Amino acid sequence: MAAPQQPTSTSFKKLQRFLRSRMGQAIADYAMIGEGDRVMVCVSGGKDSHTLLDILRHLQRSAPIHFDLLAVNLDQKQPGFPAHVLPEYFEAIGVPYRIVEQDTYSTVKRVIPEGKTMCGLCSRLRRGVLYRVAAEEGVTKIALGHHRDDLIETLFLNMFHGGRLKAMPPKLLTDDRRHIVIRPLAYCPEADIARYARYREFPIIPCTLCGSQANLQRAQIKEMLQTWEKQWPGRTETLFRSLQNVAPSQLADPALFDFGGLESARITPTPDDDLDAIATDLEAEFDPVFGSAVASLGA
Ligand code: SF4
Repeated sequence: MAAPQQPTSTSFKKLQRFLRSRMGQAIADYAMIGEGDRVMVCVSGGKDSHTLLDILRHLQRSAPIHFDLLAVNLDQKQPGFPAHVLPEYFEAIGVPYRIVEQDTYSTVKRVIPEGKTMCGLCSRLRRGVLYRVAAEEGVTKIALGHHRDDLIETLFLNMFHGGRLKAMPPKLLTDDRRHIVIRPLAYCPEADIARYARYREFPIIPCTLCGSQANLQRAQIKEMLQTWEKQWPGRTETLFRSLQNVAPSQLADPALFDFGGLESARITPTPDDDLDAIATDLEAEFDPVFGSAVASLGA
């Protein structure tokens, strides 16, 4: 297989610059990669992981620091998995790689009743194998291809079905504290990644070889977000910004904010400063969306 050619159109170059800069910004904001890191890039063969590897390779060449990449693919032994595609691609682009063969497919088929969604268990098993490989390879970071829309979908999944205000972080220390997982595509919109993958003509391997249905709950949330985005362009980006702009004192989790300690922070009000205090409180609560309401109150 020959290495894929870079398209030359202006719209491709603009898209490429955008995704590179978004990834660079996310890496910097969360200190994802440092000097001497050895980054294991998990490549399933889908559009997201292909884009992740492609842009990370570019940043590797242009970054002022040195870090190594190791592409890892897990062959889960699904029927029809084209096992030759990714090794040929990795060879063609000249990236160090390892293919891990482990039959998680049979385990999933054995454990999950016919007709039920297998993706939850499949992903957990896959994660377990990848963590083991990360330890064997002595890597310092594990890079996954989750993007901005994945993070927001997970937020709503957790709120709607788990009763928790929790998303998927750009950088994570695993529960056993042995691995750091990074998501360099955290700022990249899915639609742009899909366009990029089409431009670049990556050899895509679908994640439905096992015949599993897409996770229905996630699909519903994706549809809800897409409908909102069509109706109110920019809403997904605003939602993402809210993950970076959390106000614990305006939520209701006593473990996150000391509501019991508010009395000790209180100062004695005087009649003269009431209007100012109300305006300041409103500003803290609503700014910038209702900034104009605050302004008119002051007038
Ligand atoms: S579609 Fe199949 S291979 Fe992909 S996550 Fe679900 S169960 Fe696993």
